[in-house]
Amino acid sequence: MPGVTVFPRGDGVWLKCQFHAHTTNSDGDPTPAGLCDHYLRAGFDVLAITDHWHVTEHVCEGLVVMPCSELSARCDNPWPEAEAEVLALGVSVLPEVRDYFPTIEALAAWIREHGGAPYLCHPYWSGLGPQHYLEAPSLVGLEVYNAGSDVTQGNGLSSVHWDDILSRGATPFAIATDDSHHAGQDSRLGWTMVHAAERSGEAVVEALLHGQAYASSGPVIHDLQLDGDEVEVRCSPARSVFLRSGAWGGGVVQADPFAMPYLGRILLRNDDGLITAARFSAPEYWRWGRIEVDDVRGRRAWSNPWRLDPT
Ligand SMILES: [Zn+2]
Repeated sequence: MPGVTVFPRGDGVWLKCQFHAHTTNSDGDPTPAGLCDHYLRAGFDVLAITDHWHVTEHVCEGLVVMPCSELSARCDNPWPEAEAEVLALGVSVLPEVRDYFPTIEALAAWIREHGGAPYLCHPYWSGLGPQHYLEAPSLVGLEVYNAGSDVTQGNGLSSVHWDDILSRGATPFAIATDDSHHAGQDSRLGWTMVHAAERSGEAVVEALLHGQAYASSGPVIHDLQLDGDEVEVRCSPARSVFLRSGAWGGGVVQADPFAMPYLGRILLRNDDGLITAARFSAPEYWRWGRIEVDDVRGRRAWSNPWRLDPT
């Protein structure tokens, strides 16, 4: 189609990334070497070890191990500890004092000052509302899917939280993660595909700062193109493809020939009748959009959002 490719932009390499996993250096089961070996064997290219208030470094041939830690800030959520957590992706140092940052914004700004990409952890699990994100403009994004929360408590999906924030004018990018503490039992369930300039931690941080990634628990998003106010997506074989655009917006196409499409049409199917390309026209009220792809096993991929009304 004669559209503009919004994702991926430019040349680059695809990297399968795990951005949230714990070792014996905080509250995880595996040693750093064991965790690296686990993700290397699982086909990952990049691992950020995210021990709480600890930068776990480990050299593992074949795997890019990014510096990272999981840090905490005070906030007025309903937790007894009134705490929110943020991933300091790409930051190899720790704050001088191990103590809660006074606000999420103070924490996110510290991560940016140290060259990292701050992503807010599990908004649903942390009991966070849109205001918590909006009050921290230094944040780059959030975990739309946190598999650890989902496996243990069924509250790992934060897509409604994400849309609430998008509808209020901010544009968070999203990652999916394992938040693994018991690798092998709560791992390989959520990951992020990054389109980076090269296979390095620095290039991954750069891509995360600019949204050149998508989150997934299974499906693949090959590319997104905008053509006027229409959008076209190519993906791995899908049962359903959604255009998300917040309240009163959005559309869907489904592989089931008896299911009604809304604001979209299927462009390509594979031999099993599953969707591999779809096109959506603009909902009446839309100011932003993003794509979700569901496969036959109910697994999902989430594109990053784009805006029609830059704010
Ligand atoms: Zn964690």
